Amino acid sequence: MRDERSAKSMNEPADIATARTLSESKTLDTIVRNLPVALFAKDVRDNYRMIMWNHAAEKLFGISAADILGKTDYDMFPQSEADFFRATDERVMQSRHVVDIPEEPITTARGTWPAHTIKVPVYDDEGNPSVLFGIVEDISFEKQSIENYKAKVAAEQANQAKSEFLANMSHELRTPLNSIIGMARLLSPTALNDEQRTMLEAVSKASQMLLKTVDDILDISKIEAKQMELESIGFDATKLAQEIVGMLQPLASQKGLLLSLHQPATPMPPVMGDSVRLARILNNLIGNALKYTHEGQIEVRLDWVQSGKGTLEMRCHVADTGIGIAPEKHALIFQEFSQADSSTTRKYGGTGLGLAITKQLVEMMGGQISVKSAPGQGSVFTFTIPFVIATEIETPEQADQTGRAVAGTQEPGHIRVLVAEDNPLNQLFLEKMLEGFGFTQIHVANDGRQALDLYRSGSFDLVLMDCHMPEKNGYEVASAIRTMEKGGSEHVPIIAMTANVMFGERDKCLAAGMDEYIGKPIDLDKFRQILGQWVKLAPLPDSPSAPAQSYEAPINMQNIRDYSQGNRDRELHIVGLFIEHSRDVLEELRANCVDGVSKPWYEAAHMLKNSAGNIGARKLFELSTQAQNYVSETAQHRLELVDAIEAELRRISYFFYDQGLTSNAA
Ligand code: ADP
Repeated sequence: MRDERSAKSMNEPADIATARTLSESKTLDTIVRNLPVALFAKDVRDNYRMIMWNHAAEKLFGISAADILGKTDYDMFPQSEADFFRATDERVMQSRHVVDIPEEPITTARGTWPAHTIKVPVYDDEGNPSVLFGIVEDISFEKQSIENYKAKVAAEQANQAKSEFLANMSHELRTPLNSIIGMARLLSPTALNDEQRTMLEAVSKASQMLLKTVDDILDISKIEAKQMELESIGFDATKLAQEIVGMLQPLASQKGLLLSLHQPATPMPPVMGDSVRLARILNNLIGNALKYTHEGQIEVRLDWVQSGKGTLEMRCHVADTGIGIAPEKHALIFQEFSQADSSTTRKYGGTGLGLAITKQLVEMMGGQISVKSAPGQGSVFTFTIPFVIATEIETPEQADQTGRAVAGTQEPGHIRVLVAEDNPLNQLFLEKMLEGFGFTQIHVANDGRQALDLYRSGSFDLVLMDCHMPEKNGYEVASAIRTMEKGGSEHVPIIAMTANVMFGERDKCLAAGMDEYIGKPIDLDKFRQILGQWVKLAPLPDSPSAPAQSYEAPINMQNIRDYSQGNRDRELHIVGLFIEHSRDVLEELRANCVDGVSKPWYEAAHMLKNSAGNIGARKLFELSTQAQNYVSETAQHRLELVDAIEAELRRISYFFYDQGLTSNAA
């Protein structure tokens, strides 16, 4: 086709060719004029006067062609800029090459802006300089984008550094806290005088508060760094609310407040979601209600509606009769580090993080939270969360994707444990905990290298590995152990212990070949649960040195022995007191088997729970805890529970009779 056409044009008469050339140059001119890029041309032979200025150039420079054609740069731009343009123009013409000027400032009526310019030299048939073509573009936008991008990268790096700093700081704070909380827990069941017990309680309380603050800071930084992932496990939200309300009851009664839970009229089906985070939300809201209320009551109301096939919306109100919040502060209190009143910190303490975390968690779950409140009129916090209805409730073991056997069979006394931990306080604490679980063969390594040496020299059945140790860290030691095992059939369980609870830590431990992971401070029950996967542990040791007892005994005698220090009279005395006291409480409970909220019922249950705990009566402790959680129950349910309590008290009496600690058995 093309060949055909060019052949034809070669045979054209001269006038037609001229017309064609003219029309072609016109077309070219129109194109150049209307190209969306700013183009200009200067006559090199006539002092670089402007001879072409297209529409895009008019627009870009804000100078019309009529104004600039026939002029030089010196007529249009500041002297220094014109000097620069002229110098480059001359350089371009001499160089005989296209020159790219990545950035030059140009000043026009709209100000000085950065331009990217390309200059093209054109020569006549004899090779003499003739025209200089220029293409200009404004690169302010690109420059701004690059700067924005750089700023964004810098901010991301800073955020990453902040997360890492917080992870490290949390590690540094959690490690000593681990020791403090653990030691206080171990001290608690030992013989202490009243003054020592008060001091111990103060230590426990203060360290728990500090741990909460550390956790809050860590959580908010995880949420900010988008490192918080929500779980999705089937759970019973009503039961969760009952547990939390039950847990906070002692605090409410200490302050003389009535704390009640109104459960949904139609039982709420189990849902898929993050029960730990929902617990956090409830805890924060009820905790605040308790904190900012001095008299009256706190009502937690749980409800739900079916929102679609297989989905529901949970609605929860936490209403208090406390100090209230001024309407103009309602938005503020959900922000980080914000408190409604600057005097709040002085009077009530706190960091102003609780509600920020609560709101973020609710929103991450797809829900909403709001507050209605006025000073002196109490507050109502309401949140809703959409859930998918679960088909079953999963236990943590079921949720464990590793699919390991969940109950160990080996006796703790037969197991050689290697503890790799550099902090001497933590070593002591771990030893005591393990002794409490019935372990007798405990070997401690002070750092990673020692751990590896010890491991090589003796055959161990279980390794507890601190991740952050001098010489060699826990990940390295774990990898080395796994390498040593290669080829053989042995796989020694390694449990990682780390105060670094940032996202991804668990994966990091598992990737290094460890089997489980526990955060510090070590929670005794969680630790039991984890160890229980490999070791057969007796349930609930009440004292670290308590010998394993038969599961059937209603009383852990160690508690009484701790108290009596072997003095028989003291034992008889305490048992006598306990029996008398519990009979009174039982009567009180029976007298208050009413429908709905009952403060005397709650108080009686609370007293029974305390004395059951002190004397080491496990089942009775559970039953009275349950009674305490019967905040708003039917008389019938209460009667049934009182019968169960009475039966357990009878069993306890028989037990004491058997032990020769009481003269009558009923
Ligand atoms: P903190 O309690 O640690 O100060 P929060 O984020 O939990 O932080 O709460 C922020 C602020 O909101 C509190 O300082 C308090 O002024 C106000 N506030 C929260 N809950 C209540 C409530 N139930 N009654 C009155 N004021 C409240």
